[in-house]
Amino acid sequence: MTPLPQAKAPINWTATITLLGTPIAALIAIPLYAYYHDFSVSAWVSLFFLLALSSLSITAGYHRLWAHRAYEAALPLKIILMLGGTFAVQNSILYWASGHRTHHRHVDDIEQDPYSIKKGFWYAHLGWMIRDYPAATANYKNAPDLLNDKVVMFQDKYYVPLVIAVHVVILGTIGWAVDDLWGVVLLGGLLRLILSHHVTFFINSLCHMFGKRPYTDENTARDNFWLAIATWGEGYHNYHHIFQYDYRNGVKWWQYDPTKWLIWSCSKVGLAKNLRRIPSFNIKKAELAMKFKYAEQDLAVYGHDINEDMRNMKQHIAQEYEAFTHTLNDMAKLKELELQHKKAAVTEKFQKFDHKLKLDFQLIEQRLQHHRDRLEVLVKSLRKIST
Ligand SMILES: [Zn+2]
Ligand SMILES: [Zn+2]
Repeated sequence: MTPLPQAKAPINWTATITLLGTPIAALIAIPLYAYYHDFSVSAWVSLFFLLALSSLSITAGYHRLWAHRAYEAALPLKIILMLGGTFAVQNSILYWASGHRTHHRHVDDIEQDPYSIKKGFWYAHLGWMIRDYPAATANYKNAPDLLNDKVVMFQDKYYVPLVIAVHVVILGTIGWAVDDLWGVVLLGGLLRLILSHHVTFFINSLCHMFGKRPYTDENTARDNFWLAIATWGEGYHNYHHIFQYDYRNGVKWWQYDPTKWLIWSCSKVGLAKNLRRIPSFNIKKAELAMKFKYAEQDLAVYGHDINEDMRNMKQHIAQEYEAFTHTLNDMAKLKELELQHKKAAVTEKFQKFDHKLKLDFQLIEQRLQHHRDRLEVLVKSLRKIST
C-alpha cells in the first residue's frame, strides 16, 4: 500500500475521543448496566427509533438535501433534519457537505479525495477523521449555497451547544417518559451513536469495496443490496456516484431505499418539492454501455475458442453494439434539438414541440430497452457456448 503522505498531520483530539471513546465507554457501561439493572423494552425501542432518526437525518438531510441539492425542503423539514443530523454527531452540515462534494469531485484521488479508498479500508472508514489531513480540511469554496443557508449557518455557529442540547432534550424526554433514563441514555444515546456513526462510515469504506458496478467502472463505488439495508438506502453507491443529483440512490422502484421513500413521502405532504430525477434514457444508456463492456470482457475470456458458434456470437454482439451506437447518435441529436428549442422561446408552439420531443425521447428509451434485451440474450448464449 502507498504510505500516507500526510502521516504527520496533527491528531484531531475531539474526533479521536468521540470515535474511540464512545465504543470503550459502551463496552464497559452497557454490560454493567445490563447485569445490575437490565434494560427495559422501551430502552431497546428507543435504540431503533433514534437510530432511524439520526441516520435518516444524515442520508436525507446532510447527504441528499445539503450535499447534493437533490430536492428542496420546506423550513420545518430542514429544521428537523438539521436537529436529527446534529444528534448523529458527524460535525456540522457545512463541514460534512463540503467535504462530501470534494469526495465526489475527486473520488479515488489519493491526494484530494478526503476519504479515498485508495488509502485502505481503515483510512476511508474513520482514519481520515483522526488527524487533520489537508485533503479533509474544508475551505467551503465549493459550498457558496450552504454559506447562504440560514439553517446551515445557525447549526455551524452553535454546533457544540446544539449537540449537547439535542441530547439532553431527546434522551431526557424519552428517558423520563418511559421511566428508564439510564437505559435510554445507554442504548438510545451511546449505542445508537456508535451504530449510526459506523453505518455512515460504511458508505465511504465498504460501498467503495464490495458490490457490482452496473452504471460505471470509472470509480470504485459499488451497488450492494446488503449495504443498502444497513445504510438506509445509500448502498446503491455506484448509481449515486454517476448520477449524484438524483434524490434516489436505489433508482429502480423495487430497490430498498428508505431515504428515497421518506423524501417522496415528504413531497406528498408539502414538506419537499422539486425532487430531481435523472431521465430514464440516460440511466439506461449508462447501464447498457456497461453491459457491452462486460460482454466484451466475456468475449476476451471465452473468445479464444474459435469455433463457428463463437464467431457468430462475436458478430451478433458487434452488430448489436453498432445499433446501440446509432441509437446514441440519435439521442445526442435529439438532446441538441431540445436545447435549441429551449433557448429559442417559451411559446405555445414550443409546448407542442415539447410534447413531440417527449415522445421521441420515449422512443429512444424503447430502443435502448430493445438493445438491452437483445444483448442479455446474446450474453446468455455466449456463456452457454463457452461452458
Ligand atoms: Zn462515495
Ligand atoms: Zn454523495
